Amino acid sequence: MRCLLALLTVPLAAQSIDWTSVNAEALRHLQDLVRIDSSTGHETRVAEYVKKVFDAEGIPSTIVSRDAERANLIARIKGNGSKKPLLIMGHSDTVKVDPDKWKIAGPFSGAIVGDYIYGRGVIDDKSDLFAAMMTTVLLKRTGMKLDRDVIFVTEAGEEGSSGFGIGYLVNDHWNEIEAEACLAEAGGVVRRNGKAAFARIETTEKVPRGAKLVATGISGHGSRPMRTNAILHLSEAVTKVALWDPPMRFNDTTRTYFEKLAQISPPEQAQRFRDLFDPAKSAAVREYFAVHDPSTYSMLHTSISPNIIQGGFQSNVIPSEATATLDIRALPDENMPQFFDMMRKVINDPAVEVVPTSRGGSERPIPPPSSITSETYHQLEAAFEKVYHVPVLPLMQTGATDMAQLRARGVQCYGIGAMTDEEDGPKGFGPHSDQERLLEESAYKHLQLWWNAVTSIAGAK
Ligand SMILES: [Zn+2]
Repeated sequence: MRCLLALLTVPLAAQSIDWTSVNAEALRHLQDLVRIDSSTGHETRVAEYVKKVFDAEGIPSTIVSRDAERANLIARIKGNGSKKPLLIMGHSDTVKVDPDKWKIAGPFSGAIVGDYIYGRGVIDDKSDLFAAMMTTVLLKRTGMKLDRDVIFVTEAGEEGSSGFGIGYLVNDHWNEIEAEACLAEAGGVVRRNGKAAFARIETTEKVPRGAKLVATGISGHGSRPMRTNAILHLSEAVTKVALWDPPMRFNDTTRTYFEKLAQISPPEQAQRFRDLFDPAKSAAVREYFAVHDPSTYSMLHTSISPNIIQGGFQSNVIPSEATATLDIRALPDENMPQFFDMMRKVINDPAVEVVPTSRGGSERPIPPPSSITSETYHQLEAAFEKVYHVPVLPLMQTGATDMAQLRARGVQCYGIGAMTDEEDGPKGFGPHSDQERLLEESAYKHLQLWWNAVTSIAGAK
């Protein structure tokens, strides 16, 4: 039913686009964007690239920045104003690279090898950037009638320095980006055995939190081992929290996600998702996920990963202090003081202190999830169904994105994304990996998805 409605509401202009030539043009843009190294800031280069593209189309845009090297770009295609604007975003920075590890193609090559385009950011997030940019271009070229303004933003600093990007835009340029709904990164389509299997729309995300474990003991001579050794106490505490299974809790998004996943998974896998809801079987299946499927396991509760460990300075000296830095990803509704108290009980060692820390200026607000019953959500569902012919699930992302700041301002944000092979992430081809890659076919389909989603949400009815 929804599919049919979506088809009926796709405006006529959509049919008149010559997709073969648009795809060729779009691919060039994606490759060009990947070839711009924005892994260490310098997002201004990306903003200037987009500005050039928009200038050539007669789309007015402005470059705004807190730091001249780390600029953002805002553009607007006007609608008739009967509905509030739709914001579409792709971030312009990427994570850093270790160039020696890129064996198949260079990190800023944008090279096509086999079926894939390689390069840093080709998924995260230049895939959304090029598709949102092309969608904006096509809205202008077709002169499509819109019920709402479509605001395009490419923002800097998403990967850990959002003060230059979304934080700055929300604080200093709110009037220019204020919208009812927003589309950005973090969802996507899972391809299994060469076929699209299901799509995911990100409606909420976990919240990065920090803490340190600080163990203190008595210093002494390394030839006389002591049971009070700070490193010994720290190691035991790290083991305990790393193996701890914090209380499981579902929200609307994750409950629906696992219920739907059970309906579309092979029998054995489906049973595991159902077992999560069975108190008698849940603990065993959680242990299975902890070992075999860390991403599913992380969706079930607030998670803890010990990622830095420090202690000692000379091999014959017993140190009096040792510390471990934890990466905590909290469920959106987690009560952190209570959570830290639980951690202290799990560690159960007076020599080890749990010290909450800030995340170095990258703290994001904790907004409520976006609705999975809104009109925008259903229009997005229909767009995925139309382009990929697959079931669509709401997703709680375990990482964090710039949507947090927008959701905190009341914008209904939905994370979409390109189609990637299920096994690519584990094999080291996913976002942030040393061989980030995107199926060429997926780039074209992703543009179709953006186009269908934006025209169905913003197009005049
Ligand atoms: Zn990203």
